[in-house]
Amino acid sequence: MLPLLRPRDGSTGDTPIPAVSAAEVSEHARDAERVYASGVWSGLEPRDRAAVLLRLADLMQRDADVLARLECEDAGKPIRECVENDVPGAIESIRWFAEAVDKLTGQTTPAGPGVIALTEREPFGVVAAILPWNYPLAMAAWKIAPALAVGNSLILKPADTTPRSVLHVERLALEAGIPAGVLRVLPGTGAETGAALARDPRIGALSFTGSTRTGRVILAAAAETNLKRVSLEMGGKSPQVIFADALGYGEDLISQAIECAFVTAGQNCTAGSRILVEASVAEEFTRRFVAAARALRVGDPEDPNTDIGPVINGDAARRMLAVIEEARAGGARVLLGGEEVQVIPGGHYVTPTVLDQVPADARILSEELFGPIVTVQTFTTEAEAIALANHTPYGLAASVWSSNIDRALGVARSIRAGVVSINSYSEGDLTSPFGGWGESGFGGVEKSLRAFEQWTREKAIWVQLHR
Ligand code: NAD
Repeated sequence: MLPLLRPRDGSTGDTPIPAVSAAEVSEHARDAERVYASGVWSGLEPRDRAAVLLRLADLMQRDADVLARLECEDAGKPIRECVENDVPGAIESIRWFAEAVDKLTGQTTPAGPGVIALTEREPFGVVAAILPWNYPLAMAAWKIAPALAVGNSLILKPADTTPRSVLHVERLALEAGIPAGVLRVLPGTGAETGAALARDPRIGALSFTGSTRTGRVILAAAAETNLKRVSLEMGGKSPQVIFADALGYGEDLISQAIECAFVTAGQNCTAGSRILVEASVAEEFTRRFVAAARALRVGDPEDPNTDIGPVINGDAARRMLAVIEEARAGGARVLLGGEEVQVIPGGHYVTPTVLDQVPADARILSEELFGPIVTVQTFTTEAEAIALANHTPYGLAASVWSSNIDRALGVARSIRAGVVSINSYSEGDLTSPFGGWGESGFGGVEKSLRAFEQWTREKAIWVQLHR
């Protein structure tokens, strides 16, 4: 009996959605292959595919309110974030990749006079993506747009608890004129639907965003089956490095450090969950940071004034509280939060939490908690700041704050992470590549023209001239 995917605890979501079985995944992959080979999409001029994708973006704009509501209900994200960031960001991604697709070029290489040697990038055919629950639409858009723009047929599995906004996009894709079967959204569990995608021999490339634990399983499944190209975007434990001279940035520093730590209740892969602050200003910075964190409104995600909604489920909340308790028992000071509060029955609301004086070996400093929890550590030298920042097997993101640009850039270059922002918290816009190092990921980047590399493979063609 297949599980029904129920809306998350405390949401107002409607009818459960049936999960797609492993056997059905296989049928979908076979049919996707047929659709690809038919050329209804892959055979179009790139410019024509771009026009259809731009129509999809327009339809998403038309239905922006619906998409925001579904995202808010399924993921428990504050509606304001969905309306102001997630939905517009997803629409912008579709537009950006659509507009880019007829500007991709190959190369001619410097072979001898009797030869023309060139390279081109070709779609794989059938490709797949597996998504996390924390940014369902934004992550879907980062994958749908470049994968389809180059002509692939895409099978996309949303996270178990957050399928509805992505299913709505599938309906809009049909309305925009993307032929049936080119984009398939298959809701389901990781253990069945996701695992079947990872093992399917027809899928040429799979782009995964989610936890490092699951990424390892998917990579192993690909290795044991058809060696499909796997791209992994996974977890993080990102540092925010704050030098004394950055306090001059005033409210900008505090508000961005807060955003970096607590957006989406800290359930964000680039969350700056480790604050590293120069000892001489640690007291002042921490006081201002804690005051701003205390002012965040924990509440019903559907209330436009809410800053912090629920965490994804009760298990996640219990795990967070246990790790906080363990740190406290080991000698850490809880400056703020560290508790669950009742807002809506069934939801799990962890209050913004700040700890300092954390023992160096505490789990809270090394595990991705994926909740509204930050630790504050101090440093006295630049070298110490860099060593602390790099003290993690992850390598997704970091931010560095200093008014001395030479120092800020030097430190940014010394941090082992794929995305570093200076004097801001930012993942960059669509022109900058996004991807992790180390246990945060490998195999390709999202965003920028380089994202097309995940969805295409390079072919070298050697033409011998006979003259
Ligand atoms: P998760 O790993 O539990 O699940 C991610 C997806 O994988 C889901 O769709 C799930 O159903 C599927 N899955 C689970 N087991 C599977 C299996 N055996 N085979 C195939 N698929 C399987 O992650 P999550 O809890 O949904 O998301 C949170 C994680 O995602 C965090 O670690 C976060 O840092 C990470 N994340 C990373 C990025 C990034 O760009 N680096 C972005 C967002 C989230």
